[in-house]
Amino acid sequence: KALRAMRAALRRVHLYPDGGCYELKHRLSEEYGLSRDQFLIGNGSDEILSLLARAFLNEGDKVISSDCSFLIYPLVTQACGATYVPVPIKDFRYDLKAILDQIDDRTRIIFIANPNNPTGTYVRADEVEDFLSKVPKDIIVCFDEAYIDFVEAKDFPYLLFHVKTGKPNIILLRTFSKSLGLAGLRVGFGMASKELIQYLGKVRQPFNVNRMAQVGAKAALDDRLFLWRTKRLVSRGRLYLYRKFTQMGLSFVSSEANFVLVHVGRSGRKVSEALVQRGVIVRAMDGYGLNAYIRVTIGTRFELMRFIHALKKVLRKGEGLS
Ligand SMILES: *Cc1c(COP(=O)(O)O)cnc(C)c1O
Repeated sequence: KALRAMRAALRRVHLYPDGGCYELKHRLSEEYGLSRDQFLIGNGSDEILSLLARAFLNEGDKVISSDCSFLIYPLVTQACGATYVPVPIKDFRYDLKAILDQIDDRTRIIFIANPNNPTGTYVRADEVEDFLSKVPKDIIVCFDEAYIDFVEAKDFPYLLFHVKTGKPNIILLRTFSKSLGLAGLRVGFGMASKELIQYLGKVRQPFNVNRMAQVGAKAALDDRLFLWRTKRLVSRGRLYLYRKFTQMGLSFVSSEANFVLVHVGRSGRKVSEALVQRGVIVRAMDGYGLNAYIRVTIGTRFELMRFIHALKKVLRKGEGLS
């Protein structure tokens, strides 16, 4: 549906886009039951992370997150001269208690990717409610929910009601890049109180979201079948990988996202390099201190079978050992 809508809109690319993203926001407000002024559309949710930093951080301010999370958080923080405090993960999960302990009077923003990238783990609803009841109201808590459509866990926190009931310091980030398959278009959005959205609007470029992106994103929201098929593919793909890893004697981290962390028993860097030689690209995790892990994204069944075939060859031949 997105492709069809964009093809039809091509003939109007000589016109500037709508700087206010009226139609997309209108469609989103129907979808989520919020008013239009509770949305900020960004050039990917990456841009919203950067706008958050620019709107709220001064030199010497502090941002807290996890040490095994999305690499954009330290980037946008440090670009504003603020200090990034990465709290160690605990059992591959965000340690919300340890994050609370780090809060001081310079703390401005807390970033929480839920589910988390690159671990695929999540923090539960009960943990989040307890956490939010203890965070001072003048600290912005940003829940980055890029992978929320892939979640199946029953105790995952759905936080929209906090935004609906006017909690001023919470922002939820979503993206069209993952479950809706439009990463190249660059569209994401934030949902928050009208006041917080207004502050972010002051630091954004007037035409930050291009015409094609607005049209494609709006049409994608109507494509229920695409989303349903994608979720089914990912859900089945996860189970397929779990089964194969178990058969191969490899341990893995249970995931609520469209990727899985797996322990390969040797240098994950070497294994990933050997896999590239066989035409399969995965992510090594040594940058996070997880030396024996790789992260594999769930693709089509054919791609997963090819990955498993290559991984077996690499591990059997000891290509990652030297
Ligand atoms: C992919 C991703 C995003 C956002 O991607 P955009 O393409 O910029 O919308 C945000 N957060 C996390 C954790 C991601 O993995």
